[in-house]
Amino acid sequence: MQTNLPDSFIATDRGQRANEILRSCVHCGFCNATCPTYQLSGDELDGPRGRIYLIKELFEGAQSPERVTQHLDRCLTCRACETTCPSGVAYGELADIARVQLGPHRPGMAGAMRRLLGWLVPNASRLRVLSQIGHYFKFLLPEPLAAQVPKSVTKGLTKNTTGAKQVLLLQGCAQQVTTGEVNETLQSLLGQLDVGVITAPSEGCCGSLDLHLGDEEKTLKAARNNVDAFFALLDQVDAIISTASGCGVTVKDYGRLLADDPIYADRAARVAAATVDVSEYLTSYASRLTPRFPGKRIAWHPPCSLQHGQQIEGSVEALLQGAGYELLPVRDAHLCCGSAGTYSVLQPQWSAQLRDNKLQALHQHQPDLIATANVGCHTHLAHGTNTPVMHWIELLT
Ligand code: SF4
Ligand code: SF4
Repeated sequence: MQTNLPDSFIATDRGQRANEILRSCVHCGFCNATCPTYQLSGDELDGPRGRIYLIKELFEGAQSPERVTQHLDRCLTCRACETTCPSGVAYGELADIARVQLGPHRPGMAGAMRRLLGWLVPNASRLRVLSQIGHYFKFLLPEPLAAQVPKSVTKGLTKNTTGAKQVLLLQGCAQQVTTGEVNETLQSLLGQLDVGVITAPSEGCCGSLDLHLGDEEKTLKAARNNVDAFFALLDQVDAIISTASGCGVTVKDYGRLLADDPIYADRAARVAAATVDVSEYLTSYASRLTPRFPGKRIAWHPPCSLQHGQQIEGSVEALLQGAGYELLPVRDAHLCCGSAGTYSVLQPQWSAQLRDNKLQALHQHQPDLIATANVGCHTHLAHGTNTPVMHWIELLT
């Protein structure tokens, strides 16, 4: 794609990178075919090719920020377009740069909701207290917020364990409050494999929520906090493990996010390199895993942050099948379920439609259980079905 970005913008690292990404797009439109929002609206500007064009015009000063904001806020950042793109266009990185340019603020109710989410979700203590209160006052909340109140409030890991090897497990903020049983199950499973689990006392939010809200300052602050927290423990552990793929994809990106920070760049890159998804870590233990629910038929939903963000495909399936489970075919497995961080609150209608479509696909062959790998997908899907939804780790012993 031809670009004509201002010299002053190209002189910055961010501008140079945006220019490189824009120029790598050849406008073929293959990405539109796998974009969930393009499929919903049929509007070119709600697909990746149109959004890339809008972003280019934004940087060139030829497009109103309001128009770009409207279509970029509808983007799930699922990155299915990246998986499809034959030219390797780094759409997610480009969207992040554009979001920083647009800033995190929005007028009216949307802005208030974004501020509330940015204050609440990345803080596990606040989230825990308000989730407990939310149980009693759910009927007073608007539907998109009421749907986020967890069915039960869970604790994070409270003790470290030891073994022949040791790993550092990310607690996550939403995960430890809404699906804390996932990490408890993993700690117990790893104990059977003689792997100890420790947590970092000063771990905070990974920064993914602020990244998607376009708040660069808070994103980098969160990343620096966790680099300090994790790096101090790095020589004690075999790996840093994430069970929430949405957190894992962001921690794996710390090297890029902090590349221009002379104090943090090296340590951030080492923390990112040491971070693996739990499916990557367990692959070497595959022969020792057994099913917790023998004979159950599973519909597997791979989160976008796992299959598109981390580009991990087939690992979970191999582990579950290796343990003896039957995995049912699920059509359109590449499509987002509509959770996408804060999307279910900020774009409730599209999010609900995507969830309905996803649940129809998952239910097609009448599964006993639905399995996934990220807290957002887990709770979002569970609110729309009576079929049990679990993290895939909970299916193993
Ligand atoms: S598939 Fe890639 S190269 Fe083609 S329009 Fe989409 S982003 Fe551009
Ligand atoms: S990230 Fe997802 S929703 Fe956004 S343009 Fe790409 S495919 Fe479409």
